[in-house]
Amino acid sequence: MTTPYPHLFAPLALRGLTLKNRIVFGAHTANMSEEGIPGERHLGYYRERARGGAAMIVVEPVPVHRTAVIVRGNFLHDSDAVIPHFRQITEEVKGHGAAIIQQLYHVGAHGDWDNSFAENWSPSGLPSMFDSDGSHAMTDAQVEEVIEGHVAAARRAKQGGFDGIEIMAAYSALLEQFWSPMTNRRQDRWGGSFDNRMRFSTEIYSRIRKACGDDFVCGLAVSIDPGAAVVQDIEALEAAVSWHDERALIDYVTLGRGSYWGFSTIIPPVFEQAMKGEEFTGRLKAVCKHARVQCEARVKTPENGERIIADGLADMVSIVRGQIADPHLANKAAAGRAETIRPCISCNQQCIGRRRRDYWISCLVNPSAGREFEWGGDSFVPAASPGKVLVVGGGPAGMEAARVAAERGHSVTLAEAGDHLGGSWRLAARQPMRNEIEPHLAWYQSELARLGVDVRLGRAMDAEAVRAFGAGHVVVATGARPPLTGYQRGLPEVDSLPGVELGNVCSVNDVLSDRVTPGKRVLVLDDQGGAWQGPGTALKLAEAGNAVTIVTRDAYVAMDAARGSSDKAIRKGLARAGADMRPMSAVMRWLGDGATIRHLPTGVEETKPFDTLVLAETPKPDDALFRALAGLANVHAAGDCIAFHFASGAIYDGRRVAMSL
Ligand code: ADP
Repeated sequence: MTTPYPHLFAPLALRGLTLKNRIVFGAHTANMSEEGIPGERHLGYYRERARGGAAMIVVEPVPVHRTAVIVRGNFLHDSDAVIPHFRQITEEVKGHGAAIIQQLYHVGAHGDWDNSFAENWSPSGLPSMFDSDGSHAMTDAQVEEVIEGHVAAARRAKQGGFDGIEIMAAYSALLEQFWSPMTNRRQDRWGGSFDNRMRFSTEIYSRIRKACGDDFVCGLAVSIDPGAAVVQDIEALEAAVSWHDERALIDYVTLGRGSYWGFSTIIPPVFEQAMKGEEFTGRLKAVCKHARVQCEARVKTPENGERIIADGLADMVSIVRGQIADPHLANKAAAGRAETIRPCISCNQQCIGRRRRDYWISCLVNPSAGREFEWGGDSFVPAASPGKVLVVGGGPAGMEAARVAAERGHSVTLAEAGDHLGGSWRLAARQPMRNEIEPHLAWYQSELARLGVDVRLGRAMDAEAVRAFGAGHVVVATGARPPLTGYQRGLPEVDSLPGVELGNVCSVNDVLSDRVTPGKRVLVLDDQGGAWQGPGTALKLAEAGNAVTIVTRDAYVAMDAARGSSDKAIRKGLARAGADMRPMSAVMRWLGDGATIRHLPTGVEETKPFDTLVLAETPKPDDALFRALAGLANVHAAGDCIAFHFASGAIYDGRRVAMSL
């Protein structure tokens, strides 16, 4: 088979293994285990990426000691009970031709007492960067105990059928805390000189080599955070990596970006589009005589991967979010069908955004992530009786419903009232830094065309037109509209903002679609909890030169954008553009050319002049068509026309409904 990515699909020797290509599904916490045991959800998740062609899968980190547990969904750290469950996963993954490695970790000072119920252990007792806890400087015996914890975890991984382990020094974890003189202030044999600071990791790898044998792969995960002065720079990393390489302690090293000093860059959000890791992996490659080098920072597409490997800057690439979004990325690229890969949009909302809230991870663009075991992976069961399906509304719910119905063999027509597909999702793409939504919209267009969906733009359907169409199934996905009432959760007893009828009031949709050009002085009233709509639109206007004030009842602006790690960057952008941020506030009255704003904790009110009031409010379901069709058999609703939710909900709904037709 010829492939447009010859470097990416060249095999690679890794100790005793031959990887079939250079695409790795790198370590990340899926948070799917129950009581520390991986079950069906985990199995389905990893199996699907192996089926999809990844050459190597690095299963999420297992804590190596009771003081290392940081996530509820962590695998058990001290019990052989995990071994048969690991074995089931490793056998399935290997059965699809992928190698499988387990990551091990201990984050030292930066643990989480609420999950470990244990004090944090670190080289020198410095404070945690994760929360307000301190840490305990390990005694010699405790250092020994943690080394043995690594060895025991590696032995368990071997017994569970893993081809090897990867130890996380990255993101300021315990190994790096021993390496760096910033965090290792010890004067004993574990600290002081460079050799002493390397001793902890050297002991761990040497003992694992001895315990697990010659054919067991040993990897090392490191990271770089050029923005953080306290984090090891590239020269220090080169020295640490080459120390382990020269001694043949490691078979590969993988380099990520970010640290506990700058959490948000670890899984780069939309604001980090310019981030690259390959200049640094190139430096590591230059010092490694033996170990393979992997690049993992913002490598999302086969094109990225091919270029990095062709340029000699790494031997392998880890594509995590890209393969969460499309588990079959590798196979599609290998077959020359890269345009059919469903793109990751770096939104972080359902992967790390769910994990942070302690749910198992999923994906906004791929709702089957985490549900592979229930939904049969990324393939569709043909419809029992294929027929004519009409989808009304071309937003994310309608596009997904049409795509999946067509995949299942139905003959699908998608009617959209406007001149474009995309609905509210298309408008979201017009906010600053959200341009990665555009390739996702383009993917829907090309998939719908490939599948022969009859897309009819400019076709507003009413109940009569739907009846006349005579489809076997109708999916109503007509979305939701801004109510323009100015209702505020901060003032729940007031149904509608006094003065809203005085004019110069519009919605975020009006601004994003260019239906309304606001005047110079804009007041954005955010009643959506700091999700993208309000703060993103405020940022767009502020960057365009408007004098923007943003009011929210929340403790800080852009609170909910934290799901996707974008909140800080939005606030920074607003501050830089001179926007006036008013948290813990409400608008008491709109005057047509100004507003009275109240600071909720103090009750102090201020009246200021404004040209335009832009409302970011919870859209109201547009369910008129669905209600009018209520008596008709086989009518289904999907997405915001039931109740407003983010695009994740609309896409999930579209998929769920279409799978039932
Ligand atoms: P969702 O997020 O649920 O997909 P959106 O609001 O993003 O909802 O998209 C709904 C889409 O439905 C919009 O593009 C809108 O133009 C379209 N639409 C609404 N009512 C009708 C209708 N009666 N006929 C055809 N299209 C409609």
